[in-house]
Amino acid sequence: MTAMFDLSGKTAIVTGANTGIGQGIALALAEAGANIAAVGRSPATETVEKARAFGRQAEIISADLSTIEPVDRIIDETKEKLGTVDILVNNAGIIRRNDAVDFTEEDWDAVIDTNLKSLFFLCQAAGREMIAAYEADGRIGKIINIASMLTFQGGIRVPSYTASKSGVGGVTKLLANEWASKGVCVNAIAPGYIATNNTAALQSDENRNRQIMERIPAGRWGDPSDLGGAAVFLASGASDYVQGHILAVDGGWLAR
Ligand code: NAP
Repeated sequence: MTAMFDLSGKTAIVTGANTGIGQGIALALAEAGANIAAVGRSPATETVEKARAFGRQAEIISADLSTIEPVDRIIDETKEKLGTVDILVNNAGIIRRNDAVDFTEEDWDAVIDTNLKSLFFLCQAAGREMIAAYEADGRIGKIINIASMLTFQGGIRVPSYTASKSGVGGVTKLLANEWASKGVCVNAIAPGYIATNNTAALQSDENRNRQIMERIPAGRWGDPSDLGGAAVFLASGASDYVQGHILAVDGGWLAR
């Protein structure tokens, strides 16, 4: 790992770190040197054990991000257990599928609250810490929001998910505009089709699976580990002049 990508001594908060993309990103950051605060509903025991095997400090922080109630505690516990808040990866997210004509208010609110509202307020709480750190000693903070292909496209049967992920793109750019001069880089990663619990229904639907595979230039579903390089880049000094960018890691899907 060259110095430009080295995350030694940094602390990264990763939400939804027990599985899927969050786990893939947490482990890539740990491998690059970062200590990990693994935040989520289900305990990220495996992630924490693997991060420690890289020689890092790693702690589980229990939090249900369906409301913003735990936001301040997540920051406080991270500082208490790991010292600083240098990197935030807003990964926790849910999806609800139904035809637009039948879509319920409950499915709308649940997805928007977790994927967009909690994401914004966690950015706000971490951003306050990062701005103060930059003013104190010039340390640059990094926020990485997990967007989606549906930050760019409409999707089908996922109205609240599309609204939330389009919102994530907008909020990422807004925060970049406000904080680029205050020592905080805010960017997003837009994963393509990645094999996780979130996409289990699509993977097991033979028809949809074939349609998806045919459209991916790389010819395969992504693996959570495919997101690691982009995350390390956006968390490191290599991206200090990258602001408000939404980096697609999609096997070429958007280029099609
Ligand atoms: P996943 O395997 O279902 O993981 C979702 C993670 O979010 C889990 O750790 C989950 O915790 C956590 N989470 C959900 N609701 C939460 C809550 N209320 N409080 C705390 N944590 C919560 O799905 P994934 O595919 O890795 O998704 C991760 C992110 O990538 C999501 O934002 C998703 O929208 C995005 N994404 C995924 C794909 C894809 O193809 N897989 C594509 C584009 C974007 P529990 O295990 O406790 O539920």
